Amino acid sequence: MHVTVKAAAKINLMLDIIERLENGYHSLWMVMQSVNLYDTITAERTGTGEICLSCTDARLPADETNLAFQAAQTFFEATGVSNDGISIAIDKKIPFAAGLAGGSADAAATLLALDRLYGTNLKQRTLNKIGLTLGADVPFCLQGGTMLAQHIGELLTPVPELPDCWIVLAKPAQGISTAQAYHLCDTAPHLRAPDKRGMLNALLAEDLNGAARLVGNVFEQVIDVPERVAIKALMREYGALGCCMSGSGPTVFGLFDAQQAAKDCAEKLKTIVPDVFACRPVEEGCIVTEE
Ligand code: ATP
Repeated sequence: MHVTVKAAAKINLMLDIIERLENGYHSLWMVMQSVNLYDTITAERTGTGEICLSCTDARLPADETNLAFQAAQTFFEATGVSNDGISIAIDKKIPFAAGLAGGSADAAATLLALDRLYGTNLKQRTLNKIGLTLGADVPFCLQGGTMLAQHIGELLTPVPELPDCWIVLAKPAQGISTAQAYHLCDTAPHLRAPDKRGMLNALLAEDLNGAARLVGNVFEQVIDVPERVAIKALMREYGALGCCMSGSGPTVFGLFDAQQAAKDCAEKLKTIVPDVFACRPVEEGCIVTEE
């Protein structure tokens, strides 16, 4: 028997840093949105007593440093279920180190797959709690949709969903270290805060144009991604209602109300950056597709 789970990437429609906490973490204010760009995790009980992991992207580790592997270890520790051996296969489509929470999505999907495989029937609250020990974005990746995420990201409040639209993702080749991004924010003299109230009001009013106009991310003020200006200029030229960097980057997303414009823009972007996707907002983070 196997269980297959699709794990959605996320973008940050808004990201503000409220303060640096004493433990070194940061208190955040983020509006997160799941999009239909998925990794697929297939987990199966093998009876070998080992965790065995494979991944279609050879650039990622297939050992205990992979977040999906760690999710499996954490599942057995947290639930007390004995590990009789499992295989985890990751079909990787979400670019990694991109600001799209690909690793967190894989960890979330693995937790859900093991919950189904072992019939533990964990409550959402329990899954979130276990997930949080693996990464601050894991609880969001489990639930998905459109959410306000506060504190380190684990305090989730559903907000009205983003009106249906097209979301073009463009990931420049340059990798960004999340730790370095936070350090730059900590040492920056002043960061302009995005309009948080305006964003919530736009979502409440189901106003795609208003939300798109307000997308904002404080990391953009300290992180310099060479292609960002060109990507945003191109997105605007093709009619993007708004564009912004996701997470600590380097992926830039643009929101479009017209499918053709989004697809044409995506084609053009492929001439300047390696990874480009035309997506839509979705209401779920992890979806069990086979069990
Ligand atoms: P976030 O938006 O949460 O900051 P991200 O998109 O910037 O996430 P990830 O794709 O989650 O970053 O990857 C961060 C690092 O985690 C990678 O550089 C990679 O080495 C490591 N990693 C471990 N397991 C995975 C996995 N299953 N998928 C992606 N990255 C993984």
